[in-house]
Amino acid sequence: MGNSNSKGGSALEDFGIEYASAIESTSLVNIKDNYGLFIDGDFVDSSGKSFETLDPSTEKPLSVVSEASSEDVDRAVQAARVSYEKYWRKMTGADRGRYLFRIARHLQERAREFAVLETLDGGKPIKESRDVDLPLAAAHFFYHAGWADKLEYAFPQRELEPHGVVGQIIPWNFPLLMAAWKLAPALACGNTVVLKPAETTPLTALLLAEVIRDVDLPPGVINIVTGAGETGSAIVEHPEVNKLAFTGSTEVGKLIQRSAVKRNLPLTLELGGKAPHVIFEDAALDQAIEGVINGIFFNQGHVCCAGSRLLVQESIAENFIDRLQKRIELLRVGNPLDKNTDIGAINSKAQLERIDLLVKAGIEEGAEVFKPSCSLPEKGYWYPPTVLTGVQQSHRVAREEIFGPVLVVQTFRTPEEALEKANNTPYGLSAGIWTEKGSLIHWMAERLRAGVIWANTFNKFDPASPFGGYKESGFGREGGMHGLGAYLKNTGGR
Ligand code: NAD
Repeated sequence: MGNSNSKGGSALEDFGIEYASAIESTSLVNIKDNYGLFIDGDFVDSSGKSFETLDPSTEKPLSVVSEASSEDVDRAVQAARVSYEKYWRKMTGADRGRYLFRIARHLQERAREFAVLETLDGGKPIKESRDVDLPLAAAHFFYHAGWADKLEYAFPQRELEPHGVVGQIIPWNFPLLMAAWKLAPALACGNTVVLKPAETTPLTALLLAEVIRDVDLPPGVINIVTGAGETGSAIVEHPEVNKLAFTGSTEVGKLIQRSAVKRNLPLTLELGGKAPHVIFEDAALDQAIEGVINGIFFNQGHVCCAGSRLLVQESIAENFIDRLQKRIELLRVGNPLDKNTDIGAINSKAQLERIDLLVKAGIEEGAEVFKPSCSLPEKGYWYPPTVLTGVQQSHRVAREEIFGPVLVVQTFRTPEEALEKANNTPYGLSAGIWTEKGSLIHWMAERLRAGVIWANTFNKFDPASPFGGYKESGFGREGGMHGLGAYLKNTGGR
């Protein structure tokens, strides 16, 4: 299933340097023609419809996946309920931890297979699925496996219980990793789960279902239902779901919150972002440029915490943007399975259209656009790394999440102005600061309204570190003890 449409050239060729392509083999991956729903420990037929999932870098269909109806979701919730009462709530933490350790080890053993499948179904570069998504997904299971028998030490003097059946809905940008972020803490705390992956990237969750079977997890502890918004909505509205966890757009997050509030249902929302990436004049510029590149072009910019708003101090702005553009010329856009590729395919046609629409709106409102000279493959969904300068705060591109490889640049003169511009957004998920001055880092970090703040680095993740937002970026944390707490309810103690 090799992809031969990689034509992404770059300015490296101008220096007489050429990459030989290094395509990852797909021979390890066995994609079935069609998939059922994973309910009560087995793949079962859905009560009706199905849909195709495709490779966004070629537009070729990969498989046909079931679309779970509300009856199917009900079956999954009932299986999770029975499993909760029969096995999972009665099991010791140490035994639950053993299952999580086993899942983590199986993910490690099958890492290459998972990474290739993630890249095929989602379009992200293989070096990212191999070096980021897979190791982090396994790390989340390992980390939470360790907590499963230590919950009383994590939350001393409190009487806690699992919620019961948890409904979890995840997006398409880090399909397996988001599944791991959701499943591992829920299971460690003794809940059972109905999980819905995004409609454009269901395949790694379905491969995870095989792992779940292989590790002999009791049937019904994890149920995976595929489908789009209607399936998600059926989980949200199901009267026997005891807690909801959602990662996705702010728009859908608000709908879910409305529904959860009516039933007083515990809820965590990990939503969109428009992160400021602030570069002060004394920053180590070469490192800062790498940080900015990583901040916005990692995973084609399909990252909720992407550093999508560059705020650069006026005194260095011209030099910085010039160097940044030269660096962007060196990025390789093309076949996601090529180990040299820096920027892969846009996840879907709809997302490509949204990116294009917003960039055009930016240009109409007066922004200047920079795109490198790379050529793009003819088939598939592609967008080149793009920089918009001359952007005003009132422009749509400065306010709305683009969720693509598009960096919006503004300048500032003083730290106060940087802070005001950085916080001038309805979102509050992440932020980056680059300066040599520790005192300035602390001054900024205390005042930035963002759930995660990186200093002199960007996009660093660890399962022990809580992740989550303020304002329209949502509420609740995932990772660390804060993330665990979301999967337990207080029944007594202090
Ligand atoms: P989306 O909200 O359209 O979809 C997310 C998930 O919700 C999908 O599984 C989808 O099928 C489901 N869904 C859609 N409508 C629904 C409904 N009415 N009820 C229940 N479920 C429904 O978002 P997306 O386009 O898939 O993902 C991109 C968004 O996710 C971006 O805004 C991004 O910032 C955000 N995101 C946030 C984080 C975070 O941790 N904060 C992480 C990744 C992505």
